[in-house]
Amino acid sequence: MANADPKSVQPEGSLFINGGFVAGAGAALPVIYPATGQVVAELAEADGGQVDAALAAAVEAQKAWAALPGVERGRVLRRAADIIRARNAELSRIETMDTGKPLQETLVADPTSAADALEYFGGQAAMLGGDHIQLGRDWAYTIREPLGVCVGIGAWNYPMQIAAWKSAPALACGNAMVFKPSETTPLTALALAEIYREAGLPDGVFNVVQGRGEVGAALVNDPRVAKVSLTGSVPTGRKVYAAAAEGMRHVTMELGGKSPILVFDDADLEDAVSGAINGNFYASGQVCSNGTRVFVQSGLMDAFLERLKARLEAGIVAGDPLDEAVNYGPMVSNAQRQIVLGYVEKGLAEGARLITGGKAMDREGFYVEPTVFADVTDDMTIAREEIFGPVMSVLSFETEEEGIARANATEFGLSGAVFTADLTRGHRVAAALECGSAWINAYNLTPVEVPFGGSKMSGVGRENGPRAIENFSQLKTVYVGMGPVEAAY
Ligand code: NDP
Repeated sequence: MANADPKSVQPEGSLFINGGFVAGAGAALPVIYPATGQVVAELAEADGGQVDAALAAAVEAQKAWAALPGVERGRVLRRAADIIRARNAELSRIETMDTGKPLQETLVADPTSAADALEYFGGQAAMLGGDHIQLGRDWAYTIREPLGVCVGIGAWNYPMQIAAWKSAPALACGNAMVFKPSETTPLTALALAEIYREAGLPDGVFNVVQGRGEVGAALVNDPRVAKVSLTGSVPTGRKVYAAAAEGMRHVTMELGGKSPILVFDDADLEDAVSGAINGNFYASGQVCSNGTRVFVQSGLMDAFLERLKARLEAGIVAGDPLDEAVNYGPMVSNAQRQIVLGYVEKGLAEGARLITGGKAMDREGFYVEPTVFADVTDDMTIAREEIFGPVMSVLSFETEEEGIARANATEFGLSGAVFTADLTRGHRVAAALECGSAWINAYNLTPVEVPFGGSKMSGVGRENGPRAIENFSQLKTVYVGMGPVEAAY
């Protein structure tokens, strides 16, 4: 496989603390190109002293940053967005080598969505404020204040997007941040830190530390931290939420899912198949909001499976993710590939019917074939657990009521979709789905202008949209007595 020059994505240092790169003093953290298994960068984790230094830098920097007029904070974010757009090709290449996602995807979905967030929240920074409340003679007003030092912890599927979705609203509100990327994908958060510096962000306002779960835990447990925003799995979310509660810290939890797509008999067949493909195989299935339970009304089932199989088998171009003609990459790691293959075995053992795929690809790297199972029942493991890989379960249903009830019969509540030509049914089903984001005749579109997040076990709070500001700020009430002061005695 070509192009994976080992030195080409090596950052200047593993950590970014107080405005500069620093070598990690902890355990080695090799970065592996998932398409070849080759080590492409050598990083090291932060040790305890470096975690402490990052937090101390954030505490030191935060007050002066918050004291700037919002328009100035916003200008820094928008400048950073411009730099990201100018460097999209280079940043996308780093993201591809870190995650294995095809360059065809990262060029349009990763640094660009980070830039969107910086533009959006950069634009809002100047407009943050409170309210005036007239109380007869007296009056009150509210001041929107930052929370202080926020911690961001990321998953490995959208490393740069996650770093930006968390830091953009945090910084817009006048907070400082210490960010820990996933140990599997440590590179683009460092690139973002460097870009913030170039855009004029004061030292210490955005810091990056590397490490496994223990480094994340050290951050979450630190009394200097006011807020934790995690993107990760439900089990990690549970631990982090509990630890944050100990210190009464604010949280945003963006967790996993097992989202449903309901395809009705009257749906446009090609659109429904496109939605199911986008919701299962983009990023080789490593997307939290994927619609991995595809409920197809029985009248459309045969046609749906036939078109899905034909389009997958003709359309997938697997290969070197750095080749822009390739549209399908490997899993992020060998460990993740093994997890996915384990689920495929369970699907077969529990009696699901394999329509296509089902094996590791016969090539170097961590590739798994796009896999579709039909005749899946609600109790099968592949229909209940998040796989986080390219495995679609297709289930049959008869009535709208039944479809909705079965779609909602899960502890997860991240996303969901309905494909139908019936306008009122589309809205009715979207309203009935227990999830944070529902799409009608579309899937997995998450522009920064609209809130994103989960209900039930899939999360707490929302990212993006105007209300994300409320997750990174708090209101102080000031009551103004216009006198005289009355007293009972
Ligand atoms: P994990 O839950 O394994 O890890 C998430 C992050 O938390 C990583 O940086 C991890 O570090 C860190 N971490 C692990 N243990 C702790 C701890 N005790 N305290 C603090 N931090 C800790 O998720 P993955 O990285 O495997 O990502 C996949 C998951 O993320 C899936 O469930 C997916 O659905 C979800 N996700 C949700 C999204 C959403 O917006 N709702 C978007 C993207 C993914 P390390 O990796 O170094 O161990």
